[in-house]
Amino acid sequence: MRIIVVGAGLAGLTCAKVLAERGAEVVVFEASDGAGGRVRTDERDGFLLDRGFQVYFTAYPVSRRHLDHAALNLMAFDPGAIVRRGREESVLSDPLRDPKALASSLLSDAATFSDKLRTLTLAAGSVTEGAVAAGDLDGEDSSSLDYLRGYGFSERVIDDFYRPFYGGIFLDRSLSTSARVLRFTFKMLATGKTAVPARGIGEIPKQLAARLPVGAVRINSPVRSLLRDGDRVVGVEVAREEHEADAVVVATDAPIARRLAGAAAPEGSVGQICVYYAADGVRSGKKIVLNAEDGGFVNNAVEISAVAPSYAPRGQHLLSVVALGGFELPDAEIYRRGIADVTRWYPQADLAPLAVYRVPYAQFSQPPGIHERLPENRTGTPGLVLAGEYTEDSSINGSMLSGEKAAGEVTRAWKI
Ligand SMILES: Cc1cc2nc3c(=O)[nH]c(=O)nc-3n(C[C@H](O)[C@H](O)[C@H](O)COP(=O)(O)OP(=O)(O)OC[C@H]3O[C@@H](n4cnc5c(N)ncnc54)[C@H](O)[C@@H]3O)c2cc1C
Repeated sequence: MRIIVVGAGLAGLTCAKVLAERGAEVVVFEASDGAGGRVRTDERDGFLLDRGFQVYFTAYPVSRRHLDHAALNLMAFDPGAIVRRGREESVLSDPLRDPKALASSLLSDAATFSDKLRTLTLAAGSVTEGAVAAGDLDGEDSSSLDYLRGYGFSERVIDDFYRPFYGGIFLDRSLSTSARVLRFTFKMLATGKTAVPARGIGEIPKQLAARLPVGAVRINSPVRSLLRDGDRVVGVEVAREEHEADAVVVATDAPIARRLAGAAAPEGSVGQICVYYAADGVRSGKKIVLNAEDGGFVNNAVEISAVAPSYAPRGQHLLSVVALGGFELPDAEIYRRGIADVTRWYPQADLAPLAVYRVPYAQFSQPPGIHERLPENRTGTPGLVLAGEYTEDSSINGSMLSGEKAAGEVTRAWKI
């Protein structure tokens, strides 16, 4: 039984890992120069630079089935956040687990007692739901904004906390993202830790790839087209060579899956610019700093080397800054705007530009109701199976669930 997987992102690698464990011969063709897809880390002058700021929730139910958390050496953020509105600062110790800890100037007057109670109720309610992914959650869907308003949160709390906080997670400050993603993320935040692997987020796909036989992942090998025999997919074409297989799993992002496999994959995306500085004088500790001001450039920032010291050379500090717009700006202007926001919050900060990552396609758009309309792994075409975040939800957990289900589909159809 020979299976070809197209794409070595988390979905493709998870699919390949499960199939290899079941005894199939698996080859993964990857277009780029390394495995990991959107989850990669570069090493430069002793700094570890994730290709976009992203975090891992230790409570993710599917990914923990495939990953060795201990070997990843996960380094946790402090819960809560630091909310900045210019010079004003409010430190939230842990609004999910300890609403009493909602502290100091900015939110204490706005976050009424009932807000705090509602936060608690939302957290408590979310942990009882048995879903393994956002798309699994039941109930009528709405935008995250309507959901929070429906819970009676004040506009001030929504503006000061939820927009920048979930804006950083959904990459969308308007909170138009499906409330299922909000509810599922809430559950992850309330039941586990937020972390990064000590050696960078790219350790996650590296660990998956290491579980495959040597040579199973072939990098710099873009699949140009699928080979067909009548209506059946029988292999792929790579660099003018034909490779035959019993089944092909297309595990690319949604736009490429539409083009390569005719998948009815969702349109639309959200993106992020991640800017790195070698930094001195930013006193955020292990907490994420959120920008409560609308119209600012930076949405969130964190001294990532305070969370995971190996992200910076000894004695130096790495600041990771996220903006949700401005993709067209030149690097110099992006660095300048980042410095302008951060030094308003921390006037003593000294920031030296290191790198800019523009990631316009970070996640597929997830408006309310989208999860019911996503494609299945099974297709109407014999020999063709789909994997990729866009069949579940946009996350590390969702993409790995998709890979797992695609492997299940191959197993079922070909009785491996
Ligand atoms: C900046 C950013 C921040 C994020 N933040 C978080 C977060 O905090 N937490 C979280 O859980 N998730 C986060 N995500 C989402 C998560 O990373 C993605 O959902 C997940 O990585 C998608 O994996 P995938 O395998 O579905 O797709 P991809 O990672 O896109 O993998 C597809 C692979 O297919 C390859 N490919 C494409 N075309 C071909 C071809 N013709 N031939 C061969 N190979 C091909 C690509 O090169 C790629 O390697 C974030 C993503 C980004 C980019």
